[in-house]
Amino acid sequence: MFNGKRTSDPQQAGRWDLEGFYTDGFDTEVLVVGAGPVGLTLAMDLAWRGIRVTVAELRHRGEPPNVKCNHVSARSMEIFRRLGVAAALRNAGLPADYPNDVSYRTTATGIEVARIAIPCRADRYTDKSGPDGWWPTAEPPHRINQIYLEPVLSEHAEAMPGLRILNRTEVDGFVQGEHGVTATLRDLETSSRRQITSRYLVGCDGGRSEIRKAIGAKLLGDAVVQKVQSTFIRAPSLLGLMTEKPAWATFSTNPRRSGNMYAIDGRETWLIHNYLRPGEDDFDAVDRDRCIRLILGLGPDFEYDVISKEDWIGRRLVADRFRDRRAFICGDAAHLWVPMAGYGMNAGIADAMNLSWQLAATLKGWADPAILDAFEAERQAITEQVSQFAMNHAIALAKQRAAVPDNIEAPGPEGDAVRARFGRMLYELNVHQYCCGGLNFGYFYDKSPIIAYDGEQAPAYTLSDFAASTVPGCRTPHLWLADGRSLYDALGPGYTLLRFDHAIDVGALLSAANARDVPLAVLDVVSNDENWSSIYREKLVLSRPDQHVAWRGNAVPPDPDQLIDLIRGAGPRRPVQQAA
Ligand SMILES: Cc1cc2nc3c(=O)[nH]c(=O)nc-3n(C[C@H](O)[C@H](O)[C@H](O)COP(=O)(O)OP(=O)(O)OC[C@H]3O[C@@H](n4cnc5c(N)ncnc54)[C@H](O)[C@@H]3O)c2cc1C
Repeated sequence: MFNGKRTSDPQQAGRWDLEGFYTDGFDTEVLVVGAGPVGLTLAMDLAWRGIRVTVAELRHRGEPPNVKCNHVSARSMEIFRRLGVAAALRNAGLPADYPNDVSYRTTATGIEVARIAIPCRADRYTDKSGPDGWWPTAEPPHRINQIYLEPVLSEHAEAMPGLRILNRTEVDGFVQGEHGVTATLRDLETSSRRQITSRYLVGCDGGRSEIRKAIGAKLLGDAVVQKVQSTFIRAPSLLGLMTEKPAWATFSTNPRRSGNMYAIDGRETWLIHNYLRPGEDDFDAVDRDRCIRLILGLGPDFEYDVISKEDWIGRRLVADRFRDRRAFICGDAAHLWVPMAGYGMNAGIADAMNLSWQLAATLKGWADPAILDAFEAERQAITEQVSQFAMNHAIALAKQRAAVPDNIEAPGPEGDAVRARFGRMLYELNVHQYCCGGLNFGYFYDKSPIIAYDGEQAPAYTLSDFAASTVPGCRTPHLWLADGRSLYDALGPGYTLLRFDHAIDVGALLSAANARDVPLAVLDVVSNDENWSSIYREKLVLSRPDQHVAWRGNAVPPDPDQLIDLIRGAGPRRPVQQAA
């Protein structure tokens, strides 16, 4: 059995070290496979809820991931705020005053035809002028590459009590028993193997997930939506060659070669995506250097270094199951799609948020293990929806790339008119993905076994549109409290009963919760928010540990035990009656 020792070598720290983690005869309560953004978020949220969690990760401590994701959604930032890491993330990445805009140009150094204004991080909390400035949240989105994001998450995770990361450790198999999981861990430095027991195991091991295969899940959908030849470059002169204000994302739209680039450090590093055309199936058959120069609009004299090749295939795949008994999958292990709207990692973080509290509730003993059925019932449907949104957007973009007017670079009024017209089209299509409010706030769980539905249909949402609502299953609508706090800052790790009429007696519901050890706090809401009364029409709204609505009403239901049993996974699956 596991018997690790501490070591003072920082490269080695954490390896085979589970001292103090033994609990109820298990080495750890939850074993998370993979310390990517999803695994780290899951581990942090579990630890925040008082669960002992061990994370196994192939990479060395501090080893950066591939340069992939550039956008952390508002919803993910809300989660990071609760975990106490939002400020550190906000301070990392691009320089504070570097524009976070999305710019559409004839080439990266050519004429700008459209710009989506997104405040730089220094102004992100105060500048409300952009298309997402009105969003109902305390944490707007953040533009930061994954190579800067993950070290901040790792450092924060490592400092959390109850959380241990084992680097250079591969999980290469597991077996499930009635009460737990026994996984085999391989030390990648020595090739030695050990076993670790846990109550649950979660595969956050990315797109090639072995855990997915081990639980018998299959990815279903579209294996190829878009191929992208992607190159991470260093080019210290590029910023100075631009005739337009820099941007976080810069798209080149011209008939020769369309592509885009993301500013990574805001000084000299860039990730350039060359969208391959129909028929360009082989990454290596397409002249990478030539395409980069066409996208940038620069000739043979321009100097740059290739840091890495990052070619990727955009897919639309969702696993047919997210769970087998005590083993689960989250993030890219469970779903993969084109990174349109920047929502692959963010959807994985939402999976983690969903699973974490249900696992914690089961391990703490106040939920019936049947609550865990809700994870797949809730998240699989949402990830399927998001995958469709992302794919549809990718298809629309490919059509738009193919329709770039031949005279888009024409000088004078003729060219100006073409650019203005095409620029409007670019803006209108793309503001939906870069300000994807629907993906952040609009999704709702409508077939959950642990939500008390009341017959009202949740408002439909799109990539960008949503309507805040208290229909059970929706995200608990955000509002600002009269004392200046975000509502979310007043919500604890358990359930919160939001009470808008302080005279309503909620004692019977509290007693029912108390009798089953369900953590339930009452928050008497006082808000000066202009819109709160049109959104919060009921006087009582029960918010779950993951900030989704579990129930609402104007009085405690006649059978409060039934409601409490339903939300803790122990209830008969029939509608909860409202008070007369
Ligand atoms: C070009 C591009 C741009 C993108 N942009 C965005 C964006 O803007 N926003 C967004 O939300 N998403 C974006 N994505 C998607 C995003 O990068 C992924 O969704 C995200 O990395 C998934 O996180 P994860 O933790 O699930 O998996 P991963 O990041 O793949 O992490 C999995 C981890 O598991 C470890 N591992 C694997 N197997 C084992 C094992 N057996 N034992 C131990 N450890 C193991 C790996 O080493 C790795 O660290 C983009 C993707 C691409 C390709």
